[in-house]
Amino acid sequence: MRVLVIGRGGREHAIVWALSKSPKISKLFCAPGNGGIAGLAECVPITELQFDEISTFAKEQAIDLVMVAPDDPLAAGLVDHLESKGIEAFGPRANAAIIEGSKVFMKELLKKYSIPTAAYESFDSYEPALAYLRSQTAPIVIKADGLAAGKGVTVAQTMEEAEAALNDIMVDQVFGKSGASVVIEEFLTGQEMSLLAFVDGSTVRLMVPSQDHKPVFDNDKGPNTGGMGTYSPLPHIHESIVQEALKNIVQPTADAMVAEGRPFKGVLYAGLILTPNGVKTIEFNARFGDPETQVILPRLKTDLLDIFLAINNGTLAEQPIEWSEDAAVCVIVASPGYPAAYPKGLPITGLDQVQDSLVFHAGTAIEDGQIVTNGGRVLGITGIGKDIIEARQKAYADLDRIHFDGKHYRTDIAMKALK
Ligand code: ATP
Repeated sequence: MRVLVIGRGGREHAIVWALSKSPKISKLFCAPGNGGIAGLAECVPITELQFDEISTFAKEQAIDLVMVAPDDPLAAGLVDHLESKGIEAFGPRANAAIIEGSKVFMKELLKKYSIPTAAYESFDSYEPALAYLRSQTAPIVIKADGLAAGKGVTVAQTMEEAEAALNDIMVDQVFGKSGASVVIEEFLTGQEMSLLAFVDGSTVRLMVPSQDHKPVFDNDKGPNTGGMGTYSPLPHIHESIVQEALKNIVQPTADAMVAEGRPFKGVLYAGLILTPNGVKTIEFNARFGDPETQVILPRLKTDLLDIFLAINNGTLAEQPIEWSEDAAVCVIVASPGYPAAYPKGLPITGLDQVQDSLVFHAGTAIEDGQIVTNGGRVLGITGIGKDIIEARQKAYADLDRIHFDGKHYRTDIAMKALK
């Protein structure tokens, strides 16, 4: 088969890496890809929202399957567009991707079907939102409705911070149309867990659980990022909690989408928080997570293409899915300054010295044959071992072998599992 993956980050590198092991794939393309993906797939200079260019390329190249990895093209309907041209695509249609694309939609769905989530109110104008906010107490969480590259959420510790966030979203409109509506929700405490699932409508098959580290500095200090590191499994979180999340949250959500006439086919990502009152939903994403994918797919023993095809054929219930017992730890290496402004084009050396780890490129490019930095999060170094201790040790040992000016990373990835 000839397969085209859409996207350019570490997640897409991990997906391309997993697909590249499939004996059924004769040719892999990635649009637009990055400096690391180029070693496994032919990178095509077409970007994620160039729908016509993507479908034209897929036709010209006789592509059998287009795998749409990022949120923006899913929400904008790339899968629908490809299907309308007779091209097979993997990922939810726009009417299902809305579970990520609109937090108001997601919260209303969960409320309607009594699926556990933080208490909230939503507003589409500023004055009533402000009046409601002033009736609440901090800490409180303010969320822009639409996609905002992970920046549309403020966990406000004070009312001043909360009012400023609401003002940014609804008055200054810093997220544009994504901030036309806002969700104001209860602040929850507890460990977070990412539970991703393969879903073909009503069949839900959980992937192995993982945990991200969003704040930029050690001990969860500093501003939130796209994710500074992940690990899997979560030895300190009991399997019964995972099963509770499946029974009370993930399966009922898939069923709710079917009942709403919006069957979800693809990868459904539940962002969960383990509160003293049980597992609750923080968010849903309509795709693989980044950097969760960089620890999940290295543990998958089954051909990823077979799973994608089973989802598209509606045969996920019969599809064997096997996971390895190994542990995986991914440490993100970021550009100096990230998540604020950062330089690009810094030469990266030492990639050929890496011994044990998988190196997934998140933001790199090739300039004159040299791999250089080209994004905030630059590389994800995934160590694999018999347990978290060994996987961590391998990831950090290989990270030391890689250099670029001002490289920055957290030193405490997966420590929560060891405490
Ligand atoms: P991303 O897609 O990058 O994960 P997002 O913009 O969809 O982010 P959320 O996942 O909803 O945003 O929230 C981002 C982070 O904010 C969460 O991972 C969590 O740490 C924190 N957060 C969100 N909602 C709450 C809440 N109700 N209580 C406490 N913390 C929260």
